[in-house]
Amino acid sequence: MIKKILYFFISGTVLLSSCSSTIPVQKDTQLGQITVNKIRKDPKNYPILSSAEYPQAYAEMERIVQVIISSPEIEYRDIFAYDSITILHDDKNINAFCTPGGYVFVYTGLIKNAQNEDQLAAVLAHEIAHAERRHSVKKVTNGVGRQAVIIAAAVATGATFGAFIAVEVANKILGLGLSRNKESEADKYSVMYLQSTGEYKCTALADFFKELVVEGNDVHIPTIISSHPNTRERILKITRMGSKLGCENDVLRPHPGFEILQTSIPE
Ligand SMILES: [Zn+2]
Repeated sequence: MIKKILYFFISGTVLLSSCSSTIPVQKDTQLGQITVNKIRKDPKNYPILSSAEYPQAYAEMERIVQVIISSPEIEYRDIFAYDSITILHDDKNINAFCTPGGYVFVYTGLIKNAQNEDQLAAVLAHEIAHAERRHSVKKVTNGVGRQAVIIAAAVATGATFGAFIAVEVANKILGLGLSRNKESEADKYSVMYLQSTGEYKCTALADFFKELVVEGNDVHIPTIISSHPNTRERILKITRMGSKLGCENDVLRPHPGFEILQTSIPE
């Protein structure tokens, strides 16, 4: 083990560029757990809505995620923690995220501002795609610098994370910005996942962006937009992907559970 870690230190970044492909996918779950632990200890930045007090909201969220991961395009259904969903009580944050290993987080701001279940599912599908495509894991382990080398060594060798490294890893994952290509790829998978479930309008992500950015006013830029730029270009690409899959004319199906979800979270 020590030899292996040393090898990483010595070979440095050259080796790092290839190491994400050799990291077993089970490691993603470990990275996710580290991130979840950090979130649970930080209620100021991550105010968790109690699942004991709001069981109905949680049940509806679980139902929606289950529909998304029923897509045959989902590879890590049985490995990742997609049944672990956390609602964050922050109405100003129109966002969601999914850690490596599939821990899903959704803000009440997104639940309230989505126009229908399809739009909420589309954003969740985009976030789930980041986990499925292992975007954060690749970025965290392909970084440069001493910190990245330590993290990559710990991940690749199976070394137990020390408390210090665990905090570093969690901070890194939570603060990661992903490239335009990775965002584009997650958009594409959102369309593919929704199309294959047969439950949702496949281009609902474009509808969500359109309502919030193009037709909305610029006073209130939602987090998901500010952290995911080039929205107009992405709307075009999502629409094109829908045409390619022949689902651009999907209609909205009734989802009565969505109204239950919206009314079961705090006002
Ligand atoms: Zn994204």
